[in-house]
Amino acid sequence: MAIRKVVTVEDPILRKTSRPVERFNDKLWQLLDDMKDTMYKTQGVGLAAVQVGMLRRVVVVDVGDGYLELINPEIVEMSGEEISEEGCLSLPGESGKVKRPTYVKVKAQNRNGAWRMLEGTGLKARCFCHEIDHLDGILYIDKIIPETADDILKAGGNK
Ligand code: ZN
Repeated sequence: MAIRKVVTVEDPILRKTSRPVERFNDKLWQLLDDMKDTMYKTQGVGLAAVQVGMLRRVVVVDVGDGYLELINPEIVEMSGEEISEEGCLSLPGESGKVKRPTYVKVKAQNRNGAWRMLEGTGLKARCFCHEIDHLDGILYIDKIIPETADDILKAGGNK
């Protein structure tokens, strides 16, 4: 059990593509356990391995309905769209509105290498998309819709 340092946006590693996990061993489990501790400690709802400096396709998520580990995740289905506020542990104190699907189905392995399907709606769908983007070097700030931000300002803000 250990809290790892979360890298911030200035670190170029966040723009790199993570590699698939091939070995489901102690080293992976240690990484997962540390990521879990780090996510809860920092009060995040999701964390990708690249955010603790490991270029591996590993994600942990907990939007309040249970802890999930996703290894080599892939979105296989999505539908709907919703614009909502989003933030990132690698951009502390910042947030913006991003359009995401309202539903996603994700194929991922667990810590023992078994494949399974996971579904998410609303915040969970958003979180899956956000974390899987991290594995390809994509940050939510790449997806902020400026017009949307303007509308929100005109409406008097929501903070
Ligand atoms: Zn993030």
